[in-house]
Amino acid sequence: MFGAVKAILRDILTAVLPRRCTSCGTPLAARERFWCIPCGFSWCRHVQVAQRRFQDRLTWAHAWSWLTLQGEEERSLVHALKYGGSPQLGIELGMAMAEEWVTTTKTAQRLCHHWSVVPVPLHPRRQRKRGYNQSMQLAIGWSHRTGMTIDPLCIRTDAGRSFTRFSRSQRMARRKNPFAWKETPTITPALVHGLIIMDDVVTTGSTLESMHDTLRKHWSGPLAFITLADAEQ
Ligand SMILES: [Zn+2]
Repeated sequence: MFGAVKAILRDILTAVLPRRCTSCGTPLAARERFWCIPCGFSWCRHVQVAQRRFQDRLTWAHAWSWLTLQGEEERSLVHALKYGGSPQLGIELGMAMAEEWVTTTKTAQRLCHHWSVVPVPLHPRRQRKRGYNQSMQLAIGWSHRTGMTIDPLCIRTDAGRSFTRFSRSQRMARRKNPFAWKETPTITPALVHGLIIMDDVVTTGSTLESMHDTLRKHWSGPLAFITLADAEQ
């Protein structure tokens, strides 16, 4: 009962209050959906080499992060994607980042054919609570623009805890790989030439490394990663 009243109140508030940019908070114009046009232009683009943090341990066929997570606007955007309760925001961001990737990356046209996107899974408990997996939403938008297929090949078996107070090597030693291969039909190399892991933010790289290790046990072809943002300072 209380939940229903809350939902009605939220609908009324959404109808009467102006919609705001998820990134800078200014009221949106009618044709703007989740972010304002100035934000879309001014978000800090990532220009570093995202795969450098993996040194020689992992070889990536392709690595690309769209934004650098350094300013308040980029942080608010990622926060809204994860906790804002709107799965549609992820789809729109996936399409916007794919648009820029396709138009600025030399190898994009080649990768669009026969490459598949593997979203980083959430633990089922967390996904139930959130209502969606933001990496899957990004992948859906990405797939709309690029035509790539989506293959959710992994599941998350360990809910994971935050080990941010430990160093990267301590974290790797303390936690086992939280991902496992989902029992799905085998990926045929004739149909799929490569796999792109899709995540929202890369920080230390440990999530991507765990996903890489899980996929590598069942897939010997090229592996790549694409993230909405890179949080490395
Ligand atoms: Zn804005």
